Amino acid sequence: MEMFVVGKLPKEERRAFYQSKYDYYRTFNLCMAIVSVVAYLSYFFTDCGIFGRFAHETLLSRIIILIPFAVYMVLQKKVSDYRIMVPATYLLIHCIIWFTDWATYLLPDRQHAISGMIIMNLIFMCAGFAAPFSYSLIGHCLLIADIAVANTFIHYDNLDMMYMFNIPAVIAVCVMHNMMQRVYLEQYITKNRLEDLVVHDQLTGTYNRKKMRELSMAGTGELNFSKDLNVSMLLIDIDYFKKVNDQYGHEAGDRILVQLAQMFKGSVRATDYVIRWGGEEFVVIMPGCDSEQAMRVAEKMREKIEQSDNGVCKTTISIGVARYEGGDYHETLKKADEAMYKAKAAGRNRVVLYEGAN
Ligand code: GH3
Ligand code: MG
Ligand code: MG
Repeated sequence: MEMFVVGKLPKEERRAFYQSKYDYYRTFNLCMAIVSVVAYLSYFFTDCGIFGRFAHETLLSRIIILIPFAVYMVLQKKVSDYRIMVPATYLLIHCIIWFTDWATYLLPDRQHAISGMIIMNLIFMCAGFAAPFSYSLIGHCLLIADIAVANTFIHYDNLDMMYMFNIPAVIAVCVMHNMMQRVYLEQYITKNRLEDLVVHDQLTGTYNRKKMRELSMAGTGELNFSKDLNVSMLLIDIDYFKKVNDQYGHEAGDRILVQLAQMFKGSVRATDYVIRWGGEEFVVIMPGCDSEQAMRVAEKMREKIEQSDNGVCKTTISIGVARYEGGDYHETLKKADEAMYKAKAAGRNRVVLYEGAN
């Protein structure tokens, strides 16, 4: 069975994982923050019960929570980075604890502090869903420090009990967070693998047409590249491939397709996209490449394939090159297609650059 361990992910991927975890639980996290603050405020009625009258003494210590809560809500609206939002969530929870300590200090009867802390453990448990384990470990363990500091002015009559109830709760919740993170990692990796599978061609391992949809902005057909970035496209078609199939069989044809796709991938940079566009047609998208550079890469590719031995028969390719100039990418593909047909008409096994309608 495959073991999923966050620590084994490369740094960038680990960040993406934590961000995805936060994004997934973002609304849940927000609800938890709202519910916690509302609960904290509603405990004013409990204060009144303890006092047996309107507890004006604790009113300020209750209402003051609205200040960090307002800051939290503004952050929540503007920031989506987990590295800011998760610590902000823990800070809000600790504010609730500090203000609870303040209210407890003012109460005539402090024996309910233990129950309050148990509720805080529940809140920490919910906060851990959206947090990286290391953050929840630190954020939650500080609860013990809060008790120690609060005791210096509250002087709990049952400090031992405070520790004896809270330490096991903190440990249990941290263990649970660690397990929950593993479960989420397993789900995250499976989801990524499935998404990857959907945009890949099963035979050649290159991208398939769906990748183009992913690269384009929803609905517009416009590719997601910066306007001032040179982007070139190659449209590659294998020459006389039908004949290869007829003469050597479909399986041999498939083997050639796989080998050629590998060579295409090997001839471009890691930042380029090799897409199987149709049967034996491939599109290469080259961000940061002007037509001249794209022509050079295409020519090298053509030469390499002409000179290679695929174990079946000599194979050549024709390539049409066009520059993407923004707007619908289908237009550029049409241009590359036109150039490719010129290459075919000129005798195949060549590279042609689209040079306007003439
Ligand atoms: P041209 O030089 O004009 O491109 O000639 P061609 O025979 O390659 O013509 P065309 O591009 O129209 O032919 C495509 C052929 O590619 C048809 C089909 O037999 C073959 N083909 C398409 N998809 C596959 C595939 O997945 N596997 C195999 N083995 N052959 C395929
Ligand atoms: Mg074709
Ligand atoms: Mg062909």
